[in-house]
Amino acid sequence: MPLYEYECPGCGKRIEVLQKMGEDGKLLSCPECGVTGLRRLLSATAIQVSGGSGAVPGPGCGAGGCPAGGSGFS
Ligand SMILES: [Zn+2]
Repeated sequence: MPLYEYECPGCGKRIEVLQKMGEDGKLLSCPECGVTGLRRLLSATAIQVSGGSGAVPGPGCGAGGCPAGGSGFS
């Protein structure tokens, strides 16, 4: 379950909340001043989860060159 960080628009306090994917923070209220409608920040945790194990570069023909089979030069 991803960890989200919210910031209170009233007092600027930041809180961290564990939420399921797709939930939003509209029902959250600030523990300090009670304001609702906290703004969700992009946390490093969320970025790591979505970024995953990264893109694997394709084998391509760069390093060793492609086998030029069937190109038909005599
Ligand atoms: Zn607040």
